[in-house]
Amino acid sequence: MKKGEVLKYDVLVVGAGPAGSTAARFASKNGARTLVIEKRQEIGSPVRCGEATTLSWLEEVEIEDHDRWCVTTVKGARIFFPGAKMLELVGKFDTTGVGIVIERDILDKDLAKLAIGEGAEYMLKTSAVSLIKEDGKVCGVMARSMGKEIEIRADIVIGADGFESQVGRWGGIYKSLPPEDIISCFQYRMAGLDIDLDFTYLYLGEFAPGGFVWVFPKKDNQANVGLGIKLSLIEENKTPKDYLDEFIASKEEFKKGMAIDMVAGGVEVGPPPSNVTADGLMLVGDASRVVNPITGGGVANGVRQGKIAGEVAAQCVREGRFDHDYLKEHYEARWRDLLENEIWRNYMIKEKLNSISGKAFAKLMETLSKVDLKESNLAVLLEAIQKENPEIMEELQSMF
Ligand SMILES: Cc1cc2nc3c(=O)[nH]c(=O)nc-3n(C[C@H](O)[C@H](O)[C@H](O)COP(=O)(O)OP(=O)(O)OC[C@H]3O[C@@H](n4cnc5c(N)ncnc54)[C@H](O)[C@@H]3O)c2cc1C
Repeated sequence: MKKGEVLKYDVLVVGAGPAGSTAARFASKNGARTLVIEKRQEIGSPVRCGEATTLSWLEEVEIEDHDRWCVTTVKGARIFFPGAKMLELVGKFDTTGVGIVIERDILDKDLAKLAIGEGAEYMLKTSAVSLIKEDGKVCGVMARSMGKEIEIRADIVIGADGFESQVGRWGGIYKSLPPEDIISCFQYRMAGLDIDLDFTYLYLGEFAPGGFVWVFPKKDNQANVGLGIKLSLIEENKTPKDYLDEFIASKEEFKKGMAIDMVAGGVEVGPPPSNVTADGLMLVGDASRVVNPITGGGVANGVRQGKIAGEVAAQCVREGRFDHDYLKEHYEARWRDLLENEIWRNYMIKEKLNSISGKAFAKLMETLSKVDLKESNLAVLLEAIQKENPEIMEELQSMF
């Protein structure tokens, strides 16, 4: 590219994570000339993810081949509650959203390959540094690519730049993230572990205030061992790493393992935002705050929403409509139909669980620990709660 050259595309996607590549794939597939810019030099790396998800969303987003990145299918989850017995959830019980453990760097590259297969172009080591706006409409970005300043123009920009999206701020959609909705995470990938790697392990409460410790198994006695802590509950002079080190030091089975890499990052677990669009601009994935507020998982929702964003972006190009009203009617309406109720429900459950007193929580766990979870499903659990703790059930019902 020559100095001062201006690039022009129909659709510009900022960020080549799962949401951005999926948006690019479906924009290209529906006829839009699409460019993805990514600030890192390698898509998917370094991995900033616990790498747990399910298989349930793949068909919806037309992904047929997952063998390369789906490395472990777990039998279930073992959940440890403070002061109560461990719960083992197996088989069809799947409300934790944890069913498979993946290689995120391979998934992200595969999603980019699918987009490229549909005709999308990619530029690595290229960061958006500001939005170009004309008469209030977003018309592209100024970017820094391999040390050069470049201008990239597009009819519509999709901000897929993740947690703390700058595109969202530049576009006037957000100011800042509320601290009470941020979970601060730290994770080791550990090798040499001596635990049953057919299960995921979740330790609620005591080791991770306002969050949980996760152990997501990988091949060869490895696992992602990490935690998320509510930002506002982190003690002064302590970091999430300190909490994780304390957890590992307290468990013989984890002390044997060694960390072979570490990652830190944030996840936003608030309610769904009221608006993720502006004239000529759409946000998608973590940038649009669609993470599951209970699990902190954002890959599935980001990809599902990315498909809609890509299809609508191509539709905008065909119809020559890029205004906020059009995006609200077509993009916001479609993704909200798909995801909003579930995000709201999970947000309210999370808030409710946080507000239940320690005594009530222990009582609830005591009830659940009496159920034969190997054979049960959600209905059986709710029946048990209704029988033994009708007052808690009443509170739970008020949330649905
Ligand atoms: C420690 C941790 C553990 C997690 N564990 C899980 C889990 O187990 N399961 C799960 O489903 N989710 C998990 N999540 C959340 C999950 O990682 C995100 O929801 C997911 O990555 C969101 O995808 P995305 O495409 O929206 O954004 P991202 O994957 O964050 O991609 C954004 C991309 O934009 C690029 N970018 C940013 N700014 C610019 C710019 N100015 N110009 C160009 N490019 C830019 C970034 O480099 C990045 O590649 C975890 C998150 C953390 C931090």
